[in-house]
Amino acid sequence: MIKYVSRLAAGLKPYIPGEQPKDKKYIKLNTNENPYPPSPSALAAAVEAAGDSLRLYPDTDSTPVREAIVTADNLPGTDWVFCANGSDEALAFAFQAFFNPGEPVLMPDISYSFYPVYAEYYHITVKKIPLKDDMTINIEDYMQPSGGIIIANPNAPTGAYLDVTDIERLVAASDCPVIIDEAYIDFGGVSAAPLVNLYPNLIIIRTLSKSHALAGLRLGYCIAQPEMIAALRAVRDCFNSYPVDYIAQATAAAAITDTVYYKEINARVAATRDRTADTLRSLGFTVVPSLTNFIFVSPHAGTASALFAYLRENGVLVRHFALPRIDNYLRISIGTDVDMDTVIRHMTAWLQA
Ligand SMILES: *Cc1c(COP(=O)(O)O)cnc(C)c1O
Repeated sequence: MIKYVSRLAAGLKPYIPGEQPKDKKYIKLNTNENPYPPSPSALAAAVEAAGDSLRLYPDTDSTPVREAIVTADNLPGTDWVFCANGSDEALAFAFQAFFNPGEPVLMPDISYSFYPVYAEYYHITVKKIPLKDDMTINIEDYMQPSGGIIIANPNAPTGAYLDVTDIERLVAASDCPVIIDEAYIDFGGVSAAPLVNLYPNLIIIRTLSKSHALAGLRLGYCIAQPEMIAALRAVRDCFNSYPVDYIAQATAAAAITDTVYYKEINARVAATRDRTADTLRSLGFTVVPSLTNFIFVSPHAGTASALFAYLRENGVLVRHFALPRIDNYLRISIGTDVDMDTVIRHMTAWLQA
């Protein structure tokens, strides 16, 4: 069998996503999905799109989605936006469009674990920059010659956030492409997107999976200057000219337009997060300050892997990364208030056991 598999495929070490179990009903807090439903107007758009138009190929450039983003982010035009089938795909295209083999790309040692996977796939060297002991990023550490920089802001799985002034200092000091992955920006942070007007080396990447409760739809996008967007389109057209389907385009455009609904549910997620973090701290857990829809939690006694197993037995699924520096932490996505009360109850019982 292996004989007929390419050497490339045989040697791959792919990203491992959080599990989507089918064995029983869990409180699912392991992949940072939004606990609230997509906006009613987005769902109505999805239903309306499911008609005769599906005979035709969709718009290759996702124009309805780009128009909605231009309005929401007050951008100069649709040629400043690129849409992809989830931000994972946007990231894959961006690594190809902006980074070169042999020119090391700087990234935090603890960050989204898909970044090193893309780098290896494309033979791009990675230079990992350690986080500070408090799990935050020191922006000065990235001010050195490199082939590029990629940072998630807020970072994952820590939840720690960098101010826009820090992002601007970094982008201004760097003579290389700087990708800022804003997957979690709508849970309390301020986007660096307005800076693309000033800096041709800045690329913002976002997703509708978390803040817009549309992980199942697969829509991610980049914001950058038109020359940078053109490079992304060229890469895309070497893989797949139609990455975003017709229903996804209609649904995403409606969701991005419905700012009132999403502000409301994401403010609710943020309030639940802060309350949960405070309660866990009062129980003696270390909780990294978070501006995302998850918290990064470490127990003072016992181990994170034992707590992971205990929660799983009790029907609560969270994420544990068996990696240096963070193997005694759990990443817990923020669910509804009822979900989080259940989690707190189980974690209290675990401490007493
Ligand atoms: C979830 C996540 C993504 C992927 O989002 P999709 O649009 O669902 O592919 C990208 N970056 C970070 C940091 C994430 O946490």
